[in-house]
Amino acid sequence: MIQASTHSPIAFQWDSWYESVGGRTIQIKEVDEYLQHIRDFQYPRFTGEVNPEQIQFASPEEASNHIKHLARTLGADEVGVACIEPSDIYKGRHVTEPFAIVVGQKMLWREFQQVPNERSAIECLRVYFTLGEVVIALAQEIRKLGYACTVEHPIGDSDVLHVPLALKAGFGELGRHGSIIHPTMGPLFRLGSVITNMPLATDRPIDAGIAKFCDTCKACRIYCPADAVPDERSPEAGKDHLGNDRYMIDTGRCFPYFATDNYCSACLVVCVYNHKEWARDFEGFKTSLFPDLQLKTSPHPADPEVEKHWYPLRKR
Ligand code: SF4
Ligand code: SF4
Repeated sequence: MIQASTHSPIAFQWDSWYESVGGRTIQIKEVDEYLQHIRDFQYPRFTGEVNPEQIQFASPEEASNHIKHLARTLGADEVGVACIEPSDIYKGRHVTEPFAIVVGQKMLWREFQQVPNERSAIECLRVYFTLGEVVIALAQEIRKLGYACTVEHPIGDSDVLHVPLALKAGFGELGRHGSIIHPTMGPLFRLGSVITNMPLATDRPIDAGIAKFCDTCKACRIYCPADAVPDERSPEAGKDHLGNDRYMIDTGRCFPYFATDNYCSACLVVCVYNHKEWARDFEGFKTSLFPDLQLKTSPHPADPEVEKHWYPLRKR
């Protein structure tokens, strides 16, 4: 059994945070439908019988290749494998599986032409749902092979932190805006995981110069309507996978904006790294290179009186 580290962050307390900004106010029919579908049709499929006849692979590398091929066939745009360490588990939680298969799925640039917007909000939920289908189907295939596994849904109450696992699995580097930047998908994708006891070969983190690029680019900081993106790295926040001090978003500034303006996403869509590559429509839809930003005045920061992860109070 792997227990969370004493330094692990607590799982985000969504209800308390929403209470601190006056409740959930975003009302979009399609968003509510996706949430309902996830609760009604996906949660009941998280578990299943494990085949008692276990398939043996010649090596962990062969097992990993098989699983990655499966994940891509099922709809993942990126997949990698990482060992689970105590720091990858939320405070107070534990897991029994030592490996995480991290999967990512792109969000469509055509839905982020105007941001924040109902269309971009719906696209976030659409991909939570479709990526949820990928992790559920992948878990079913792993059980058929005779190995126990657990679904860590992209939007569910997950035991593990998808972001550090994805960094270890080679997805990209941590950007100033706090999200992973993938070399070709940029920051416009979502993450989920399946954790398993199947012996797998793990991937390596990458150093493509992305974190270094962030040290000179400040586009996300300039455009953030809530002034939540930092100028400097925070030594108090610990290191990223390359040993850099992390950039830490001021969550108390970001959340009130995110929660009241269509889940914002401004920092993602203005991200400059390899923008020409990832900010285009791969199916030929006519899109603009830069989104139309419709930013409002930010509400007051909120810092609910609950146990929460550490974040800097920017300019407060
Ligand atoms: S989601 Fe919006 S408010 Fe939050 S950090 Fe990004 S740009 Fe700022
Ligand atoms: S906008 Fe620039 S500074 Fe911000 S995450 Fe992207 S590359 Fe880094």
